[in-house]
Amino acid sequence: MSPDGTASRIAWRLATVIDVVLETPRTRTLVLDVPGWPGHRAGQHVDVRLTADDGYQAERSYSIASPPEDTRLSLTVEQLKDGEVSPYLSEALHAGDTLELRGPIGGYFVWDIPTGGPLLLVGGGSGIVPLMAMLRHRDAALASAGAGAREKLPVRLLYSSRRWDEVIYRDELTSLAEKDLTLQVTHTLTREQPEGWAGFRRRIDRAMLEQVAWPASEQPRVFICGPTPLVESVASTLVELGHQPALVKTERFGPTGGAV
Ligand SMILES: Cc1cc2nc3c(=O)[nH]c(=O)nc-3n(C[C@H](O)[C@H](O)[C@H](O)COP(=O)(O)OP(=O)(O)OC[C@H]3O[C@@H](n4cnc5c(N)ncnc54)[C@H](O)[C@@H]3O)c2cc1C
Repeated sequence: MSPDGTASRIAWRLATVIDVVLETPRTRTLVLDVPGWPGHRAGQHVDVRLTADDGYQAERSYSIASPPEDTRLSLTVEQLKDGEVSPYLSEALHAGDTLELRGPIGGYFVWDIPTGGPLLLVGGGSGIVPLMAMLRHRDAALASAGAGAREKLPVRLLYSSRRWDEVIYRDELTSLAEKDLTLQVTHTLTREQPEGWAGFRRRIDRAMLEQVAWPASEQPRVFICGPTPLVESVASTLVELGHQPALVKTERFGPTGGAV
């Protein structure tokens, strides 16, 4: 291994599925045991490699959903109907199965406690995954700190989903926000809303960002993740609103992406 650990990150490892958690009708979390895992930072991803019986291989990237504090690695995979890899990962794998992965990968779209806040997280669909790793990391790292520590790192999450039953980590987000007044979670449901829904019901736009996001004067660390059109429009709108481009970090999940 090289002194910076590069070899251990790029080596393919055999992970064993310990548990499969149903998050939404189209999304599952794979909880993995990865022997020799070197550790990761919130926001990083892994490459997953599948090999067919005839030797054909397919590789895709998946963000790490679990915080660095967890001993097990979690990946949350949304099934794309005609996809090559995601239906296999989200439907065919069960506890005891194995898969190959390498990582952690990425040093740009990452957030740690010392990076500071305030924090503005904007996600669409499965783009919540690396943002959830950041929220879980913040929660775990500050668990034994006083309330003052959370107040120094307040977070606003704006999360766009098509419908209420497609909101990934819905219950966990609700309970995190209920116990922590310094975490504000705002949902927008773009396609269908439950009866009596009083929240946003459109795609994220300038007016929504003006209402929900920290003002630029607060100099928040911004992380935006999801389908390419959402990421590009939110990033450019925030820059128009005066946010410093250097503080706005983006991760694009799909070539054209789903409309969320
Ligand atoms: C850094 C990174 C992290 C990622 N993390 C996650 C994650 O945590 N969870 C997750 O579910 N996915 C994640 N993705 C997306 C993932 O890598 C795959 O692209 C996705 O699972 C589709 O793979 P597939 O083989 O099923 O579809 P493919 O066979 O590659 O594509 C099938 C069809 O879907 C379209 N498509 C491909 N990707 C997307 C997409 N993301 N959204 C909408 N349409 C798409 C293609 O254009 C094609 O028409 C991440 C991508 C990147 C680059």
